[in-house]
Amino acid sequence: MSQKLRALQADITSLNVDAIVNAANSSLLGGGGVDGAIHRAAGPELLQECRLLGGCKTGDAKLTKGHLLPAKLIIHTVGPVWRGGQSGEPDLLASCYRRSLEIAAANGVRTIAFPSISTGIFGYPIELAAETAIRTAQEGVERHPALDEIIFCCFSAADLRVYTSLLEALPATSSLKLAN
Ligand code: ADP
Repeated sequence: MSQKLRALQADITSLNVDAIVNAANSSLLGGGGVDGAIHRAAGPELLQECRLLGGCKTGDAKLTKGHLLPAKLIIHTVGPVWRGGQSGEPDLLASCYRRSLEIAAANGVRTIAFPSISTGIFGYPIELAAETAIRTAQEGVERHPALDEIIFCCFSAADLRVYTSLLEALPATSSLKLAN
């Protein structure tokens, strides 16, 4: 079951999966970081579709088509800005992963890739964010058995090391598939 989780280093826009997740801001009208990269790669029709969605609350997620991406679908989620950890950040971040996986499962997605939500411009410490990401993804594959693979798509080698060591430290019974 947890063989379904793995981490790799890549540009998320290049991945050939059913859905990629975007770390968006609440306007859903584009931004920097992974959001900017996704809009550039998906083309201008993505922004047109996003305009119809009326924004998105922190911790929630919304679905669009993938447009020019190899991925058929994009799930846009809004992570919390890190304010020191006492402002509900862990619950909100977990909610991003949980809602994204619910929407994925409801739309027949079998393979999905997440960027490291909130750990760029939003300043969430990578070790803490990765722990929440992995725990919530594990719960998600248990809840949604049709999900075949959850990829943690790391942009940097340093981020990949964090994810890989956390995945390796999981109980042996989970027998995870690790990045090569
Ligand atoms: P946030 O505002 O949620 O912090 P960012 O886009 O600033 O979102 O950063 C989230 C993560 O996405 C960071 O780890 C950043 O390095 C990474 N990232 C940026 N561009 C890409 C990309 N093309 N593919 C995958 N990850 C990316």
